[in-house]
Amino acid sequence: MQSKIIQDGSLAGQIPDIPAFRAVPPEVFAERAQRLHTLADGHALEAYLRFAAALSAAQSYALQALSPVPLPDEHTLAHCHEHGLPVLSVDGHRRDPAWREALRHIVAQFDGNALPAQASDVLKRVRVASAEALDGAASDLLEGAYAELDAGEAPFIAGALQVYWVKMALQLGERATVNPAQVGLCPVCGSHPVASVVRIGGAQQGLRYLICSLCASEWHMVRVKCSACGSTSGISYFNIEAASEAIKAECCDECKTYLKIFYLEKDTALVPAADDLASLALDLLVDQEGYNRIGPNLLFLPGTQT
Ligand SMILES: [Zn+2]
Ligand SMILES: [Zn+2]
Repeated sequence: MQSKIIQDGSLAGQIPDIPAFRAVPPEVFAERAQRLHTLADGHALEAYLRFAAALSAAQSYALQALSPVPLPDEHTLAHCHEHGLPVLSVDGHRRDPAWREALRHIVAQFDGNALPAQASDVLKRVRVASAEALDGAASDLLEGAYAELDAGEAPFIAGALQVYWVKMALQLGERATVNPAQVGLCPVCGSHPVASVVRIGGAQQGLRYLICSLCASEWHMVRVKCSACGSTSGISYFNIEAASEAIKAECCDECKTYLKIFYLEKDTALVPAADDLASLALDLLVDQEGYNRIGPNLLFLPGTQT
């Protein structure tokens, strides 16, 4: 009798179960900062990528400096796990003031830096803003009301919210993830993915994971499938000619959306949330083809007030 050989060359029945989730690594922001510095060299968006690198480094510091934050109680956790609801849902979660502590840590990292006048004005405004104003901006951002946001302040607000959510996800560990009712949304916080990645090595070899735009958790999804509508037909791929084959836009003709996909087998240095910012030319290309992006990169929100 012949054994069935499956795609990765291993024997069916002998491969371990597909890991459904990939927990957020504690060094997530440091990895992004380092990669953004590398990508900035000679890039057309160099100044912007250097700023994003500095912000990511500040997030890395803030994540370590932030005291443990309050978590949902046992009753809420049990309820969420039973019904497949995200434990740290952006919709239902009552935000603790600790997120503003994360913001203070981030802003403090820019103290004493030689900043352009415009950036220094933004930081002054963030420093003196009332708790109500900051909470209002945070709610607008999480609700996707980007037109209400100040373009200069938005990356700092977003950066602090990411730190706060990553902190909670790290504290909860395995209890952060549920088997979600909606496969296209993050099983930890219910946000849209920022991108997807085809991983290499170990049990994750060749598997595609979606990466949360807010809490950086990852969850498995089969390849060639739209995470917005679930369609497996009418999927096409765009990439920038002459640019890396390792980055493509996966476009769905059913719902006219796209999500970038990053292939680590073609470039092991990729850090999707960082390389996403350095490949805005691909966004412009698929935008011209009439596709809308599924999830935002919170450090670059189009449609904010300038
Ligand atoms: Zn999430
Ligand atoms: Zn679709």
